[in-house]
Amino acid sequence: MTHLLRHWNLDWEKDSAESLTPEHISLRLFGNVGIQPHSTAGSLGNFFSIHDRIYGNNPKKMLQGPPTLKLPSPAIYLEGLILVKEYEDQTGAEAPYFVHTEKEIRKRKLSATTGNVTSVVKRTRSQLPSRVFTPLRSEIGDLPGFSKVLFLFATVSVARDGAVSIIWPDSTATPVACTLQDTPLGQGKTKKVFKAIYDRMPWVAKRFFDIGTGEEQVEIHENSKFLIQEITRLAKSGYYLEHFVAEAKQRGVSIDETISVTDFKLGIEVVQDGASPSLASGVSLDRYQDANTNSNSKLLWLFEPRRSARVDHWSGTNDYPAWHHKKLGSTLNAFTHYVYHLTQESIVLADLQTVNEHGDGLNVLFDMMTHTSNGASGVGDHGQEGIDTFVQSHECVDRCDGCGLSKEGFTKALKESGESDEEEEDQ
Ligand SMILES: [Zn+2]
Repeated sequence: MTHLLRHWNLDWEKDSAESLTPEHISLRLFGNVGIQPHSTAGSLGNFFSIHDRIYGNNPKKMLQGPPTLKLPSPAIYLEGLILVKEYEDQTGAEAPYFVHTEKEIRKRKLSATTGNVTSVVKRTRSQLPSRVFTPLRSEIGDLPGFSKVLFLFATVSVARDGAVSIIWPDSTATPVACTLQDTPLGQGKTKKVFKAIYDRMPWVAKRFFDIGTGEEQVEIHENSKFLIQEITRLAKSGYYLEHFVAEAKQRGVSIDETISVTDFKLGIEVVQDGASPSLASGVSLDRYQDANTNSNSKLLWLFEPRRSARVDHWSGTNDYPAWHHKKLGSTLNAFTHYVYHLTQESIVLADLQTVNEHGDGLNVLFDMMTHTSNGASGVGDHGQEGIDTFVQSHECVDRCDGCGLSKEGFTKALKESGESDEEEEDQ
């Protein structure tokens, strides 16, 4: 970063009174994907491995950048956005002419001659003197129905064996200001969803409000527990998908390659001394303080990129259509079988749904559930009973066969569950 800035500043300082500093730059991966929080603190190698863990096998190939570049691997393609407004607001210096659009340059020329009688006639609101820019942050903070809320972000990583770990930010981490909607944009059975703006991008922030004990009866530690489970599920699903795609490739099985798992972030709301938790959190200051006297309870949020596209449902909580005649559906059906096999018959992915995000053609999985043998993966986990239902109702598609998967692999489970069904009927 320092090296890059030194290079950029050579040109920059020729035409501007101040220098660019790291806070004027927003680094992004290919496809306008934000980099991981605090990842620039260590070495370049460290920076690479953090992103390689998360995006290394992503079909979007954001680490490699535009395909036309043909970057050799390992490589990491980065784009640096110069935050011109922030630079100007913070330093009071005007940014070099080459970062402005022609329109902006014309506008600035006009405003520089506002003393001129002939230009007064032409002046409109858009031709205010260039110093009077409103900083973006206060613009969005002032949006009615939204509040500025501070967040820290944890790093979620998946090990080679699929184990998910969460690295919490340490006490030196700097909170990031986000804009968070005060009232929910929508809600499902268990979670409320709020619009959020993070790093100038549209996200949603989700939290639990009903875990079966009534609305807004969720304790702070319960929300944490269920959100961590949800995030673990998302991270693991990404891991399973990578393996599935690799297996299919190796066996030469054609699958729908547009599938990916949603990006996500684990946000920790920062409540400053003397301030209350956000309106969106639904947690009063009293409740927050109570929770924090005994333990260090965190106000956790699940951040996901905001989606507006239509949702396609591919499986239900206990319903697994085969989708023989739909490539995406049958790929996801085979994927479900693959995960069951890969996890030694201990995990079944359920409630698979995708959105086809506008523009990039990707079908993004989100909000999936799992049935696990110990029944402890979170909300909607029906345990062994849920697994048995999958075993009984799964219908193999050609892609299952192609990937070496067959129902013979689970005849034992079938037989056992068949027997137990009969016993129940006898009683
Ligand atoms: Zn199958």
